[in-house]
Parts: sequence; structure tokens; C-alpha cells
Amino acid sequence: MSVVLLVIAKTFPKNIQGLREWGLSVLVIALAIPLFVARDLIPDLFSIVLANLMLLAGFMMMNAGTRKFSGVPPRINRATLFWFVLAYVSLFAWFTYIQPNAVIRLAILSLFTLVVILNHLILVLKALPKTTGRHIMVFSLAVLIGSRVLRLGGLMLGFEQPTGIFDASTSQLLYMALPSIMIPLGTISFIMVASEKLRQDLEFISRHDDLTQCLNKKSAIEELKREIARSKRHGNKLTIMLIDLDKFKDINDTHGHLAGDMVLVDFADKGKKSLRETDRLTRFGGDEFVAILPDTDLEHAKLVATRFHEAAKKSQPIAWSVSIGISEWLGNDDSLSALLTRGDKALYQSKTLGRSQTQAI
Ligand code: GH3
Ligand code: MG
Repeated sequence: MSVVLLVIAKTFPKNIQGLREWGLSVLVIALAIPLFVARDLIPDLFSIVLANLMLLAGFMMMNAGTRKFSGVPPRINRATLFWFVLAYVSLFAWFTYIQPNAVIRLAILSLFTLVVILNHLILVLKALPKTTGRHIMVFSLAVLIGSRVLRLGGLMLGFEQPTGIFDASTSQLLYMALPSIMIPLGTISFIMVASEKLRQDLEFISRHDDLTQCLNKKSAIEELKREIARSKRHGNKLTIMLIDLDKFKDINDTHGHLAGDMVLVDFADKGKKSLRETDRLTRFGGDEFVAILPDTDLEHAKLVATRFHEAAKKSQPIAWSVSIGISEWLGNDDSLSALLTRGDKALYQSKTLGRSQTQAI
């Protein structure tokens, strides 16, 4: 599991974080097992104190992995974490060397890992999107929490008196077996969550223009077809605005191509702010954009166009203006290409009439 995660961590894009921490956490937990097994063959310092510290550290790193992935900043500072770990190690040292007591050591392990896993579960519920991967992760963390609560309850009420971690009682076997199932399951669920994010990121990239983050032409056409189908079914209004920056070639020639890019971004940002939530600003290519305005008639679209011209007046540091052509969906006899052609004609009229204005057909 650890190797799989570490390999995936190397191949996934840099914006998907936390896989390395999860991979290392599983490795640390796995490496603790031989130390437990070697009890009586190696000093207690390794087989008790270090092995249990590795278990706690493993769960803490898992938590850190999910935190890094979700981008939620840690609420607990480093000093608190340091004291938490120091208290754990000190208690283990005390109940190993000063007052040797396996039952109390088990209780300490259960309690401290319970705190960490509970914190992890809260983070998962708050910060991860509701996907199948998350549901599985919630399940595995909840089982680990449940088993710790039962264990602690049993130890405190004196139902159980295990002699050590490899005691063959049913409860101890269950307590050992559950993590060996739930940790791999949790790990798989994290890979699922990360893969889902990768899929969503790739889908976003394939649907959007990299520079302006507007929908690209392919998705714009899909969106238009969907809106036309909706208009045909329900008789809704639909208007589009074809928008082209004026004399954009001159901006590029005067200020350079990078400054031209900044103008495109500035236009897209201001344009999006001039639209409603249900409207879409799409980039058809170069300096040509198409705004899709569902449930909007020609008159309202003209008002929206006015907002674009107003926004252009506030453009800085490089001033830009736009020419706009508006066309409206005319009902069942209309077609997508006819709609776009009318918009194009209206845009051409705006250009020939002196630019920085709107015409509608
Ligand atoms: P008009 O007012 O008639 O539209 O004049 P114009 O100069 O804007 O003419 P046109 O629309 O034909 O020019 C588009 C220019 O946009 C040409 C091209 O070099 C430039 N361009 C296309 N894509 C990009 C881009 O991504 N970044 C930059 N900086 N320039 C681009
Ligand atoms: Mg232009």
C-alpha cells in the first residue's frame, strides 16, 4: 500500500497533495509491526516505546496527509503536537520501566490514537467532498474509533485484563485485526478521493480555457445545445452575445503579447462579474467571446451589454473596449448555426459603425 501511494504521489500533479504523507504513514505503521513481534528479543525501548510511538506517529501523519490534500490549515500548533507526543512517550516509558503495566500501556495507546483518529474523522467530514471514497474513509475511521472506545471502556470497567499486545483473547484479536483491515481500506479510499480530484481537475482543464478560465469553444457549443433543447422544451428565452475586443492586434503590437494576455484576463474577470450566476462567458478563440444568457430576452441582453461597456471604461492599466453583437433564439424553426450567424452579423455591424458599441439582430 505504501509503495503504491508513494509511486502515485510521484506521478500525480503537484496540486494533489498529501499522498506522500499517507504513503509514509502506512510505511511507519507497517515497520512498527516487526518491532512488536520482536518483543523479548530486542530491548523494550524498541519493541514497546518506539513501536508504540511509531503507531501514533503513523496515525498523525495520515491526518497530516488528509489535511494537506484538503488544503485546510492546521488548527493545532506544533508546540501542542510536541507536548502531546512527549506526554505519550513519557507515559509509555513510565509504565515500561518504573511501573511496568501492560494494561495501562494498552489504554494509553488506545486513548492517544483515539484522539488522533477522531480529529482525522472530523477533518474528513468537514473538508472532503462527498464521494464514494470519502464514505469508505469515514467508515474505516469510524470502525477504528469504535474499536478504541470499546477497548477503553472494557479496560476501564475491568472487563478485560489482557497481558499484552499479543494476548490471544477475542477482544485483543479483534483489536489487532480491525486496523489490519481498516488501514488498507482507508488507504484505498484516500487513493479514490485523490483520483476523483484528479479526474475533476482534468475535466475542468478539458472544458476551460487555460488563460481566462472561461469555458472553451467545445464546451460552449455543448452548453448552447443544452440551452436550445431547454428552450425548445419549455419555451424559455435564450440570447447570446458575441463579444470581440477592439483593435486587439494594436494592443499586442504596442504593449506586447503578455500585456495582451493580461487584457484578456481583465476582460474575462470584469465580464463574468457583469453576468448572472446562470449565464456563461465562453472564449470562442483569440479575442472573441460568447456570453450565453438563458431566460433572457433581447432588451435585457442589451442592458447586460451596457454593463460590459461600462466595465471597459474602468479597464486598467491598459484600456480596452469591446464590440458586441446580440442575437435571440427565435423558436423551433431556428438553429444553432443561424443563431451564431445572426450574432456574428450584429457584431460586424458594431465594428463597421465605429466599435465600442452593441448591435442586435
Ligand atoms: P477588431 O477591432 O477589428 O477586432 O481588430 P483586432 O485587432 O482585434 O482584430 P482581430 O480581432 O482580428 O485580432 C485578434 C488578435 O488577437 C490577433 C491575435 O494576434 C490576437 N490574439 C489571439 N489570441 C491571443 C492570445 O491568447 N493572447 C494575445 N495576447 N493575443 C491573442
Ligand atoms: Mg478583435
